Amino acid sequence: MLADSASEMLSHALDGGLNREDAQFLFSECPTDSMVALAGSIRYRYKPSRVITYSRKVFINLVNLCRDTCTYCTYKKEPADPMLSMMTPPQVLAIAEAGKKFRCTEALFVTGERPEQKYGEARSWLRSLGHASTVDYIAEMSDLVLKKTGLLPHTNAGSLTKKEMAQLKDTNASLGLMLENSSERLMQKGMPHEDAPSKNPKVRVKTLESAGELRIPMTTGLLVGIGETPEELVESLLLIKKIHEEYGHIQEVIMQNFAPKPDTIMANAPAAPFDYFLRAVAMARIIMPQVNIQVPPNLSPSVYGRYIDAGINDWGGISPVTIDHVNPEFPWPSISSVKAATEDRGRSLRARLPLYPEFLKGGFITSDRLLQCVNLIADESGLVREGYAYD
Ligand code: SF4
Repeated sequence: MLADSASEMLSHALDGGLNREDAQFLFSECPTDSMVALAGSIRYRYKPSRVITYSRKVFINLVNLCRDTCTYCTYKKEPADPMLSMMTPPQVLAIAEAGKKFRCTEALFVTGERPEQKYGEARSWLRSLGHASTVDYIAEMSDLVLKKTGLLPHTNAGSLTKKEMAQLKDTNASLGLMLENSSERLMQKGMPHEDAPSKNPKVRVKTLESAGELRIPMTTGLLVGIGETPEELVESLLLIKKIHEEYGHIQEVIMQNFAPKPDTIMANAPAAPFDYFLRAVAMARIIMPQVNIQVPPNLSPSVYGRYIDAGINDWGGISPVTIDHVNPEFPWPSISSVKAATEDRGRSLRARLPLYPEFLKGGFITSDRLLQCVNLIADESGLVREGYAYD
């Protein structure tokens, strides 16, 4: 049932209690400016601080072979590709040490989905390093980076089992897995996830729930504009909300706009229209008033300040050292320009850890090693100490 009146619906939204039917109605019918204004009011109510955060990171492209194929992806490489990455421990450490010099606090480990299941090259590479699986190697590299540099690992290695995530819990401040979308329709023939079994929403939800059972702070989010319907987009946000209500561990929701890339099957597909994406960002805030909502600034270089109006409170990871290997076509803006765009909207920019303050204070981190490193760089608010990082 729709709420009795528009004002009743808006008051439910402001109270964070919008029901499914009203959420769908709002997304399909509400003018964009009104939706953005509503999202801005909700952010103001639930996140009154005027701070917008970012995580100062290095991107460690551990292995970019992947057993799956998503039709929009340029991250995945084949063994003969000159951009193939299969990093050795000294290479990993060199990037982390460069990050430390630039006062980065996050070591983002990214891999393709279980490359050893498809490629002999990946199995030989892992064997030469003394490992049988990518996750085993990530665990060793997370330990190394934490021990030698104090950068806090955050791993994004696809759909992991509960046992695998437990292996990473003591060395990773948080883990990441994009839901992308909750619609199984996107796995049908001709759709972007047809050849990507790990993108089955049931598999992704299982990973997110297992992380919840382990009390691991999780980053997740949506890729917007890959062929989903507006209803599916809203359902995806509602599903993330439901998982968070059950486990309380979704530390941030990334809203990422699809941008077509050359040499992919979706090269000629239209980019997510700006108005649709802006509405999606606003809807994320309206559906999840208290959750941290993030938009990466590099995918909409000229307009990203507008996402602050739509209720975001974070820009995600930005690196002064490494490129965005997932979206190399879209360089990150400089931290000083992100700061200027943030201040233009009357906000201030602060560096955060790959672990949001409320999760640090909420006792999610039980590893003494992680806590010792966190205490060296965080202030009492849980953000990176003022003056620690420089541009
Ligand atoms: S998006 Fe991820 S799962 Fe899909 S092909 Fe690229 S690396 Fe593999």
